[in-house]
Amino acid sequence: MDIKKILFATDFSEGSSVALPYAVDMAKQYGAKLYLVHVIYDVTKTTGWYVPHVPLEEIYKDMEKRAREEIERFSAEALGGYSSLEHVILKGVPYEEIVRFTGENGIDLIVLGTHGRKGIDRVLFGSTAEQIVRNAPCPVLTVRLPQA
Ligand code: AMP
Repeated sequence: MDIKKILFATDFSEGSSVALPYAVDMAKQYGAKLYLVHVIYDVTKTTGWYVPHVPLEEIYKDMEKRAREEIERFSAEALGGYSSLEHVILKGVPYEEIVRFTGENGIDLIVLGTHGRKGIDRVLFGSTAEQIVRNAPCPVLTVRLPQA
């Protein structure tokens, strides 16, 4: 097996944090580059909402800045100094963006949690994990929360 690029997808939930050590360990063992990926939901794409008076681009810029800070905070401890990595913030429908990024960047393995955030996100977007498993062009490792 030639695993040179691993994508770890995170929504910063507990469900994805249990998957992170698997991504980091495998990256170390294979000497692979690790992509830490977060997708900011683009509500207009998913729901068709038209929001004429809200400067969405400004809001997304702010969300992107926060996501970059969060991804660093979220991964700092688990990485244990592993430096072959890239932080990637995308915008759109999470599973679509992750599948697209995977194809375009020749990712060899995706690692993610079976569970993510609950509530309105799930109502709007369905199961990101399920859609990625169904549509990814490479193998997908899903990690379950111990009590879930
Ligand atoms: P879900 O299927 O939405 O319950 O989420 C399952 C897993 O998919 C999470 O544990 C994350 O690993 C990944 N995931 C969900 N939403 C996102 C997102 N917006 N960006 C990146 N990864 C995500």
